[in-house]
Amino acid sequence: MSTPARIFVFDTTLRDGEQAPGFSMDVPAKLAVARALDTLGVDILEAGFPIASPADAEAVRQVAAEIKRPVIAALARTRRQDIEEAARSLEPAARSRIHTFLATSDLHLKAKLRMTREECLASAVDAVTLARQFTDDVEFSAEDATRSDREFLCRVIEAVIRAGCTTVNLPDTVGYATPDEHREFFVEIIERVPNSDKAIFSAHCHNDLGLAVANSLAAIQGGVRQVECSVNGIGERAGNASLEELVMALRVRQDRLPYDTGINSPALFAASQLLSEVTSEPVQANKAIVGRNSFAHEAGIHQDGMLKDVRTYEIMRPESVGQSVSSRLVLGRHSGRHAVQSRCEALGFTLSHEEVDQVYHAVISLGEHRKAIADNDLRRIVERVRTPATANGGAPTPQPEAVGYGHGV
Ligand code: MN
Repeated sequence: MSTPARIFVFDTTLRDGEQAPGFSMDVPAKLAVARALDTLGVDILEAGFPIASPADAEAVRQVAAEIKRPVIAALARTRRQDIEEAARSLEPAARSRIHTFLATSDLHLKAKLRMTREECLASAVDAVTLARQFTDDVEFSAEDATRSDREFLCRVIEAVIRAGCTTVNLPDTVGYATPDEHREFFVEIIERVPNSDKAIFSAHCHNDLGLAVANSLAAIQGGVRQVECSVNGIGERAGNASLEELVMALRVRQDRLPYDTGINSPALFAASQLLSEVTSEPVQANKAIVGRNSFAHEAGIHQDGMLKDVRTYEIMRPESVGQSVSSRLVLGRHSGRHAVQSRCEALGFTLSHEEVDQVYHAVISLGEHRKAIADNDLRRIVERVRTPATANGGAPTPQPEAVGYGHGV
């Protein structure tokens, strides 16, 4: 098998993510997240938008001063003062990237920027030329690229590459694309732009329709070699493509997606938890990869399968993303005998067949009132079952089935 193509992970947790309501972070919080991103192994770390505020500029400067392995990127509009401020904030960086952006869709040009297409083209070229005076790593983003006129977009891309742009990012700013469409979009653009081989193409997908990860994967199949994403998928509105989902989709489905990233996947869960902690925003329980339920099984049929062979209900190991192995089988109303017995054994109790039955029924009935049964609850139940029958409080009659009910599919 040939070596999988390398995909560069451009993390925007501290920029697009941080600008979402409820996710703003002070400088120490940003530094803590930047360290976690470094541990994760992101290739490019977008640290902020320096012109936006002095605190933004300071955060970029401190991240650039401390974090030396990844390329540190700073965002700038195409204005001179934006680019100069970005360059100043990036001065301490070992490797820096100026990321300049301008909308290219007629809607944004007319309604928001009040600019003609020709003014847009000139402004983009000037910005890239200026940015190249500070660093030879310059990214240009054509905001609202997916809703831009193709012919015009191709002209802009060709011109910015000629001006020295090394990464061309084409965002689906409003999260409107579908996967097949997004793949075709990149195939067409890369084919039509005569100097497209001189730059790396990049996707930046938003999750308004829940398609950000699917669209990013499709973009990779369309020739993109950089994906912009964020931890926990945070970002404007419904967020950006989730870093952990993208990375694990590529890793788990190597057979269909022969690409790889430099991400140290066992560090994913810790990064997710840290971000949740510093922003006080919880991670959705059923969030893929990093949610607390993403490797938890409560249904009896699933628990029985898991105890026999984890591959029955798991496509990746929890430890491969840094989730703990111990709490995967959750005891509750939907649990089965097999899981109850297994947890009792883990707690040091060897139970008779009859005791297992009694404990199992006590777990089910306690589960009616509780979200989950903790180990201490289980210890108490076992002790109660083991006291003389008269003090047993009348355990329900044992049922003959081997596993509990709960969702089979
Ligand atoms: Mn964005």
